[in-house]
Amino acid sequence: MKVVLEHLTKIFTNKKQKSEVRAVDDLNIEIPDGKLIGLLGPSGCGKSTTLYMIAGLQEPTSGHIFFEDADVTDLPPEKRGIGMVFQNYALFPHMTVAKNILFPLESARVPKKEAAVKAFEAAKIVQIENLMDRKPSELSGGQQQRVAIARALVKNPNVLLLDEPLSNLDARLRLQTREEIKRIQRETGVTTIFVTHDQEEAMSISDYIVVMKLGVMQQVGKPQDVYDDPVNLFVANFLGTPPINIFKGEIKNGGVYIGEERIMDIAYRDTEDKPKIYEGQNIYVGIRPEGFLVDPNGVLTCHIDHLEVMGRDISIVSKHELSTKPTVRSIVDSLTDMPREGEIKFNLRPQKMLLFDAETEERLK
Ligand code: ATP
Repeated sequence: MKVVLEHLTKIFTNKKQKSEVRAVDDLNIEIPDGKLIGLLGPSGCGKSTTLYMIAGLQEPTSGHIFFEDADVTDLPPEKRGIGMVFQNYALFPHMTVAKNILFPLESARVPKKEAAVKAFEAAKIVQIENLMDRKPSELSGGQQQRVAIARALVKNPNVLLLDEPLSNLDARLRLQTREEIKRIQRETGVTTIFVTHDQEEAMSISDYIVVMKLGVMQQVGKPQDVYDDPVNLFVANFLGTPPINIFKGEIKNGGVYIGEERIMDIAYRDTEDKPKIYEGQNIYVGIRPEGFLVDPNGVLTCHIDHLEVMGRDISIVSKHELSTKPTVRSIVDSLTDMPREGEIKFNLRPQKMLLFDAETEERLK
């Protein structure tokens, strides 16, 4: 089912302190049917509030929510046909797995036989059908999470909402479980909205990601497109591990400079629809770690501070005075013939180089 958010806004007011927080500010998104969407952003950016409004657990201050063409903004949660998995799973500890999964069907007075069949089907999708008689305390974190998903799926929801569903799992289980979520979503075809602050998690399984900051949507798109083509410095910084390297730079003499190094030519621009590019403009140059090419005649010289050897890849960590962060990170594969200490020269892959206006932080190129 398609989900459309139209000018969705939530303002929390604290009457005592006479203050207000714009948790979600004029959010407009169309979430296509049958896709997995990652709602992504740092803590406090409004991800959970958005999810709770879609679920009907929180009332928008203004704006509308549509499931297909139906306006559900004023519908109570139980009439929306959603399945929800909370961060802490919220399983009933005194009930068996089977009872937990059956609970939404019993509440909806589905006949017993039919309910049992549905519960078993849901358990099979998440592969816990052999655990039906156990209590939650007898399950691992990953298994509990599956029970929570089965319980959310059992009523064939129109939309599945997952609030940081992996945050209680250890690193290895997180990797496994995020693949599981993708598989379950593909198998069921249910439109799924998934909240996380972990960009890698969101990028790895989402069909589309929505990046938010302080309640405002920054960008929506396919993960790779947003990574390659961020609209501003915030999005560029937020996506990528190791993170993008940011240098202070300047446009002068028809070129992009980092310090005294001219790293590329650029055409000036004076248009209405795109940010201007002009002589003397202060900029940030963003270079992805994979944008550095080791080259003895390269334009950029860095002092190797230390290397982090990670099997196939080596991360070169270097202090660079023109970087906005104290270190520069680049990645080379461990077979590269390169110096392991002292100075290293790089050339830069132009397509991995992003330019931002230093004042507005908007993307220039
Ligand atoms: P996290 O990843 O930490 O859960 P989030 O991106 O999900 O963060 P929200 O929980 O949606 O963020 O919160 C967005 C903003 O709204 C925050 O500034 C938060 O403090 C504020 N907020 C959330 N719920 C309430 C509330 N019930 N009353 C007042 N302010 C709230």
